[in-house]
Amino acid sequence: MTENEILKEIVETGKRMYEKGYIVSHDGNISVLLEDTVYITPANVSKGFMTEDQIVKMTPDGRVLNGLKPSSEYKLHLAVYRSNRNAKAVVHTHAFYATAFACMGLPLKSETLAEAKYQLGDIPVAPFAEPGTEEVAESVAPFLGQYNGVLLEKHGLVTWGGNLTEAYFRTEMAEFLAKITYHIHTYKVGKDDSKNG
Ligand SMILES: [Zn+2]
Repeated sequence: MTENEILKEIVETGKRMYEKGYIVSHDGNISVLLEDTVYITPANVSKGFMTEDQIVKMTPDGRVLNGLKPSSEYKLHLAVYRSNRNAKAVVHTHAFYATAFACMGLPLKSETLAEAKYQLGDIPVAPFAEPGTEEVAESVAPFLGQYNGVLLEKHGLVTWGGNLTEAYFRTEMAEFLAKITYHIHTYKVGKDDSKNG
């Protein structure tokens, strides 16, 4: 892929995340690693209205190459690339159902849904760390090698993949799994209540 193709794909993915309601306001961030450059979404810009010239270029050790201000979660993105050599793209959102599970501290179990088992795998919960700090990167470190995504406790969802399409689809699948899991649970509670009542 060329740099221009990556910039275009990041802009399109940002719009999709915004339109799907996975992010509001300036939330969420996206990055792609190409050779020795990380392309990452900027701070304080809505990803629903972002343009290609706003995307930050940086080195994998965190040096900005084009004078722009990267997402406050850039350390989280760099930690993924450092610890998982297969990861070439990272997506962070506050997708509604996935974030509800993150706030409850409950992992997503992929055995619930056949497609999630094949395309995603289990999504564990990384213990709470203040958003935008180095501690977020530390909290996810134990999970980066063996999973395709992680819930950030009381915060949101991060997924990664071999390219941006894969990383983004894992976000979609994790959100779908969270939604299905929520509704199964609600249905079961409803049934139990009617038995008891
Ligand atoms: Zn966030």
